[in-house]
Amino acid sequence: MPFECRHCWHVWQEDYVVRHFENDHGNTGEIWLRRGLPAAPPSAGVSCPQCGCQDVTMFPDGYLSRHPELIPPAEPPAPDATPLLTPVRKPLY
Ligand SMILES: [Zn+2]
Repeated sequence: MPFECRHCWHVWQEDYVVRHFENDHGNTGEIWLRRGLPAAPPSAGVSCPQCGCQDVTMFPDGYLSRHPELIPPAEPPAPDATPLLTPVRKPLY
């Protein structure tokens, strides 16, 4: 699930799994799991891993695939291995 910090505009993703349950009284509830561990639901407050700010926007799943420009590159682009050659040949004389 993608998140964006409204303080420093950092964008990151957390994988949440929500489990629905029903108890003996017919009440239903949800258990949120993050990295396999019970966690507070993202709506209860997620803090930015970069600045710690809790003013965080949650995007619907799949949002970033439609807005790939929001995802910071995971690694700097590889340097071009081709050496820069000037296409202009030196005069022979
Ligand atoms: Zn932040």
